Amino acid sequence: MAKYTPMMEQYLAVKAQVPDAFLFFRLGDFYEMFFEDAIQASRELEITLTGREGGAEERIPMCGVPYHSADNYIARLIEKGYKVAICEQMESPSETKGMVRREIVRIVTPGTLMDGKLLSESVNNYIASVIKEENGIGFAVCDISTGELYTAALPGTEALLDELSVYGPKEIIGTAEAVEWLKRNGASALRPPVYTVWDKEDPQALEAQYGEEELRKLAALTRRTVSLLIAYLGETQKRSLGHMTRIEIYRPSQYMVMDPFTRRNLELTETVRDRAKRGSLLWLLDETVTSMGGRLLRRWIEKPLVNRDRVEERLEAVDALYNNLIVREDLRQSLKDVYDLERLTARVSYGSANARDMLALKISLSRMPEAVRLCRESGSRSLAALVDGLDECADVQEWIASAIVDEPPVSVRDGGMIRLGYNDRLDQLKEANQNGKQWLAELEQKERERTGIRSLKVGFNKVFGYYIEITRSHLANLPEGLYERKQTLANAERFITPELKEKEALILEAEEKMVDVEYALFNELREKIALQVHRLQRLAEVVAAVDVYQSLASVSARRRFRKPELSAGYDLTVAGGRHPVVEAVMQDGSFVANDTAMTAEGGPMLLITGPNMAGKSTYMRQVAIICIMAQIGCFVPAERAVIPMTDRIFTRIGAADDLIGGQSTFMVEMMDIQVMTEKATRQSLVIIDELGRGTSTGEGMAIAQAVIEFMHDRVGCKTLVSTHFHELAHLEESLAGLKNYCMAVKESDGQVTFLRKLIPGAASTSYGIYCARIAGLPGGIIDRAYQLLGAFEERAGAVEAAVSLERESEEPELVPAVPVVPSASVAAAPEALAPAVQLSLFGLEEDKPSAADKAKRKQDARTEGVMSSIREMDLMNMTPMMAMNLLYELKRKLDGK
Ligand code: ADP
Ligand code: MG
Repeated sequence: MAKYTPMMEQYLAVKAQVPDAFLFFRLGDFYEMFFEDAIQASRELEITLTGREGGAEERIPMCGVPYHSADNYIARLIEKGYKVAICEQMESPSETKGMVRREIVRIVTPGTLMDGKLLSESVNNYIASVIKEENGIGFAVCDISTGELYTAALPGTEALLDELSVYGPKEIIGTAEAVEWLKRNGASALRPPVYTVWDKEDPQALEAQYGEEELRKLAALTRRTVSLLIAYLGETQKRSLGHMTRIEIYRPSQYMVMDPFTRRNLELTETVRDRAKRGSLLWLLDETVTSMGGRLLRRWIEKPLVNRDRVEERLEAVDALYNNLIVREDLRQSLKDVYDLERLTARVSYGSANARDMLALKISLSRMPEAVRLCRESGSRSLAALVDGLDECADVQEWIASAIVDEPPVSVRDGGMIRLGYNDRLDQLKEANQNGKQWLAELEQKERERTGIRSLKVGFNKVFGYYIEITRSHLANLPEGLYERKQTLANAERFITPELKEKEALILEAEEKMVDVEYALFNELREKIALQVHRLQRLAEVVAAVDVYQSLASVSARRRFRKPELSAGYDLTVAGGRHPVVEAVMQDGSFVANDTAMTAEGGPMLLITGPNMAGKSTYMRQVAIICIMAQIGCFVPAERAVIPMTDRIFTRIGAADDLIGGQSTFMVEMMDIQVMTEKATRQSLVIIDELGRGTSTGEGMAIAQAVIEFMHDRVGCKTLVSTHFHELAHLEESLAGLKNYCMAVKESDGQVTFLRKLIPGAASTSYGIYCARIAGLPGGIIDRAYQLLGAFEERAGAVEAAVSLERESEEPELVPAVPVVPSASVAAAPEALAPAVQLSLFGLEEDKPSAADKAKRKQDARTEGVMSSIREMDLMNMTPMMAMNLLYELKRKLDGK
C-alpha cells in the first residue's frame, strides 16, 4: 500500500468526508485539488493539471486556483451541477509547529447559495427535501439566501411533481428510494436539479433552529422532512442560519392546482419555445421595482389563490392603487431605492454582509417611513392593514448611519469602513496615523530645504517601508552620510533615517490596529443587527407585497385591464376578453376581443372548430389566463368578467401540436388525459386543444368524442375543446351542455380572412389548401388539390352516409378502405386523405401524353416527386416553420437540386 506524506494523509482524511464534492484544499495562497478531483477539475475549469510528490511512487495529479479568485471557479463548478467543499487552514502556519490544522468550513452546493453571481435577483434559489411514504409524501423547500421555508404533506406523486415544477429547486435531497424515483419520474426540466441521497435527520438541530413552538405546527411527516433539510444544511453550511426563523406550512389545495404541463403551456413564467421570461405572463405583469417584489410576484403567479376572500383583499389593494395614479407613482418611487432587504438580512445573519451591504440596508430603511405613509393614505384597507403597526426599524438605520462611512470598501478586512466619532479608541488610532502622515509630509518639505534638492520625495513600499528618494542626477548634491542607503534603482537611490523608521513603526502599528479595531467594530454591529432579523424580515415581506400591488395596479392601468367580479358560483362569463400577452406583443393594437360564456344553464362546454391559425388556441389560453390573473388578485384583460373560483386548470394538447419539442408522445398525452379524468372536479377548467392527433383519424376522433362525453357526463366542469375534426360538431345534438363555436372566417373573391372572432356554430372546412396557396405553392398544385378534395369529400360523404349516425356503439373508422400506395419520401402515411389522393392521382398520370425529350421526362419525374410529397403533407399538423422547411425542400426538388 502506498504510504503518503503527512499532508497527503491529512488531505485524504478530509476528502473522505466529502466524496461527492470537489475538495478545495487550502495550501497557502492556493486551493489545491488532488487525484480524481484534480483530473476532473482541470478538465471542467480548463486549468493546467500538474503533479506533486506525495510519498507514493507515482506523482499525485494536482491542480489549483488562487484563493483570491476562487469564487469564480467555484461558481463555474456549481453552475455545472457540482458541489465544492472549501477546506481552510484553521491556524496560521507561522504560529504552528508541524502540520497546520485544516477543516471544511463550508460545502457550496447548487441549492445552498448565499451570494454571488449565480444567484438571480428575481428568482429564488431553492433546495427541496422529499420523503416518500406509503400514505403520503413529505415535501419541504427552502431558500437559504432569503430564509424562506415551505413545507407540505402531499397526497401523491402527481402533487409532488406539481410542487417541484412550482419551485424549480436547484437541488433535491431525499432518501435513496425517493431520489431514485425522482430521477426516473422527475420533471423533464431543461436543467435538471442536482440530487443528493440524504437520510440523516437531526431533531436536535431542528429544535435549535426553530424552537419547539414553531415546530409544534408540524405533523410527523413534515417535521421529519424539515429535519432532513436542516441536517443537510448543517452539514453543508457549518454555521447557524439565524435568518431561518419561520416555517410556512401549506396545503396544495389552498392554491389553484396546475400540473407542470399546464403551467408551461399557459406560459406563466416562461415561454414554451425558448423558456425565456420575455413573452410570459410574469414578464407582462412584472413592473416590480424591488428584488423581493419580483420574487413574490413570481410566487403569486405560480400559486393563484382559491379562497375568494383572500383574492378580494388583494383586488382591493390593486383597485385603490389603480385608481390613484399619484399614490401609485410615489410608492413606486419610494420603493425604487429599496435594496434586497431579504437577502441583505440573510447575509447579515449569515455573517457574510460587508459594509456596502450595511449601507444598502440603511438606504432601504430610510425609505420606509414614506412607503408606509403612502400605504396608509392610499385609501386601501388591505394596504393600511399591511402596514398597521409596522416596525420600520429606524433604530437599525440609525446604528448603521452612525457607524458606517458613506463610501465603504468591499473588503471588511482593510479598514476604511467606520465613521470618525463612532469609537474613541479608533479615533485615537486614526489621529496617530493622521499625525504620522502629517509628519511625513512635513519631513519631505524640511529635507528638500535642507538638501536643496527640490525633487526629493518621501515614499512607501511594502518591502522597505517608508524611504526618502533622490534621483540619480541629484545624488552628487547630497552630503555624504546624511542618510542611510537602503535601495538602489535604475535612476534613483532610496534612503532611510532612524527617525523615519521610528515614525514608520508607529504609523504601521496604528494602521494595523485601526484595521483590527474596525473589523471588530463592524462585527459587533453586524451581530447586533443580526439579532433584529425577525423585524427586518417582516419589513421585507411587507415591502415585497406592496411592490407587487403597485406592479399589478400599474400594468392593469396601462393595459386597460378591469377589475373582475369574483363569484361564489359556477358560471364564468367574460365580455371582450383578450389574451394579455398576445395583445401586448401585437404592436398595432389589432387584437380581437372575444366573449366567453361557460354557464351551467347555457352550456359549460364549448367545442371550437375552425382552420389552422384561426385563433383557437389563443382563445382557449386566454380564458385560462383571465381566470388565473383574477385569482392572483390582478385585474383582467376584459371589459367585464365574472370569475368563479377555479380549483384546477388542465390543459391538454394534441401530440402533434405540442410545441415543447415533441417530447410528448401520444402515450404521454393519453396518460395526461387519464390524470385529468381522475382529478378534475366540477370547479375545474379543462382545455383540450386538438385532442387525438397522434393516431389515425378514426381512432383520434373516437377518443376525442369519448373523452368529451366523459367530461360532460361525469365531471361537468367548464371545458373548452378545439378540434380539427369538424365531424365532431354533431355532438351538440347529443350533449346538452355542449355548444358549437367556430372562429369566423371571411371569404370573398377567393380571399380568406381570419377574423379571430368566436361565433356560434361549427366550421365546415379547414382552409388547408388555401393556406398552401398563400404559402406560394404552384397554381397547378393548388387547382389539383381542390379537385381532389372535392372527390375525397364526395367519397367520404358516401361512406359516412353508410355509417350510422349513432356513433357511440360504432367502430368509428371513417376512412374509405383503399389500397395504400407505399411512399418513398415519407415513412408513414399520416392521414386518411393520402391514399385516396394517391389513387386518383395515378389515374391522372395515365392521361398525360408521354413526352419525347428526356429533359421533360426528368422534370415530370421531379414534379411527380413533389406531388407525392405534397400528398403526404399533413397540413393541419404543421407549424409555420415546418411548412417553410417543407416548401424549401419542394422547391429544391423541383429545381432538380
Ligand atoms: P389556431 O390554434 O386556431 O391554429 P392560434 O390560436 O395559434 O390559432 O392563433 C394563430 C395566430 O393568430 C396567433 O399567433 C396570433 O398571432 C393570431 N391571433 C390569435 N387570436 C387572435 C385575436 N383574437 N386577435 C388577433 N390575432 C389573433
Ligand atoms: Mg392551435
